Amino acid sequence: MIAFDFDYYKPRTAEEAARLFKQADAEGKQPLYYGGGTEIISMARMNQLRTGAVIDFKSIPECNVLQTKEGKLTIGAAITLKRLEDEMELFPLLGATVRDVADHSIRCKATIGSHLCGKFYFREGLLPFLLVDSEAVLVGPEGRRTVPISQILNGEPCLGKGELLVQVISSERLFGMPYCTVKKTKMERIDYPIVRIAALRTEQGVRIAFSGVSDIPFRSRELENILNNNSMPLNERIERVVQAWPAPILDDLLASAPYRTFVLKNTLSETMTALERRRV
Ligand SMILES: Cc1cc2nc3c(=O)[nH]c(=O)nc-3n(C[C@H](O)[C@H](O)[C@H](O)COP(=O)(O)OP(=O)(O)OC[C@H]3O[C@@H](n4cnc5c(N)ncnc54)[C@H](O)[C@@H]3O)c2cc1C
Repeated sequence: MIAFDFDYYKPRTAEEAARLFKQADAEGKQPLYYGGGTEIISMARMNQLRTGAVIDFKSIPECNVLQTKEGKLTIGAAITLKRLEDEMELFPLLGATVRDVADHSIRCKATIGSHLCGKFYFREGLLPFLLVDSEAVLVGPEGRRTVPISQILNGEPCLGKGELLVQVISSERLFGMPYCTVKKTKMERIDYPIVRIAALRTEQGVRIAFSGVSDIPFRSRELENILNNNSMPLNERIERVVQAWPAPILDDLLASAPYRTFVLKNTLSETMTALERRRV
């Protein structure tokens, strides 16, 4: 049960959604954008979240686009993780990454827009977008803008107040490159990641992004440069990556920091070895 009342809005355009957000915010309702509701409902039931208004973006046509045109894949924010898994030929690395996020019933409801912008910090589905330099289309009270996804979601999300993520646009140029996506959990296949790595091998070297190790998902050029320095043996590169790690390594109920570091090193070795075997 959710122990509070809230207004429900169903706008038909992104601009209307942003207007409703601004209005509800001015009325002190602490509005939230609403996709599949899996996160909002589970947090509200546990009294970890309170809101006076939700703005459901699932009826906005541009949030429901899933199309390839002129070498670009456009994914609307309302597309579910399950659909990206089912249509994984569109963006294989993305499909392979989201297919083991949460369980089947959550994936059938959870939308990619909310997965990228919600409060759960794992955001495993973000990693493929960081690797192919995707762009995010945002609409907020100040208008519409298109920015590199790395500018607003690499690490701590930094969307403007009331901004709705409407679409993610990715060039298909790198979709055919060899990839590897690995999730390590504490025990079960379906659980939060202790370590999630997604990586792509391009002509210029390996691109790699991480989730679960720290309380932000991220891609780091500094770590990529270390891993691509083939003058060093792989185990030395991995040691250097851990030394240069840009955020504290989590130490929690899922895993201690030393254990996470151990799993990180092994998963990095597995990923790099798998990619080095495959030709571009
Ligand atoms: C039981 C459970 C297990 C999970 N396991 C994992 C896991 O293993 N790995 C992982 O990475 N994640 C995991 N998650 C997180 C999950 O992937 C996201 O919570 C989910 O995808 C959110 O989707 P939703 O559409 O249901 O979000 P909603 O509940 O609709 O919205 C979530 C939040 O995002 C904000 N928001 C939503 N859409 C937008 C938008 N378009 N623009 C701006 N802000 C927006 C909302 O304001 C809201 O606060 C898990 C979640 C649950 C509940």
